[in-house]
Amino acid sequence: MRIGFGFDVHRLVPERELWLGGVMIEHELGLLGHSDADVAIHALCDALLGAACLRDIGYHFPDTDPRYKGIDSRKLLREVYRLVKEQGYMLGNCDITICAERPKINPHIPAMQEQLAQCLECELNQVSIKATTTERLGFTGREEGISAYAVALINKS
Ligand code: MG
Repeated sequence: MRIGFGFDVHRLVPERELWLGGVMIEHELGLLGHSDADVAIHALCDALLGAACLRDIGYHFPDTDPRYKGIDSRKLLREVYRLVKEQGYMLGNCDITICAERPKINPHIPAMQEQLAQCLECELNQVSIKATTTERLGFTGREEGISAYAVALINKS
């Protein structure tokens, strides 16, 4: 078995949809990025790529490539998981922490779990998602952005 870690940050701006964990959340701000800027999925992709020693999300999906402009990050996650499987591995479990002052993330966690479990062809209990604030401290506390951390364990299939 192998383990990987991922981290990502995106800036919160007006006039963007807020996508987190494959779910669109009603909010007056959204995350800025070349793709849909789903920071939780990006951290998870990097954890999976790290576990398989396959570089990082920017290496596979450069933000200069017009093919990825506005792309649904669930597509990136499916492609990342295809690469992991190609190396002969399957997901054991993953655990994601989303750091945001607002909006409230907790009510959306079951829907996110469902989305991610679909992309990873796994059971809901293999995808843990947690939310925290940073007690109004730092850029997440000032609502300038949202960050996410993820770990993933993969097993030789
Ligand atoms: Mg990102």
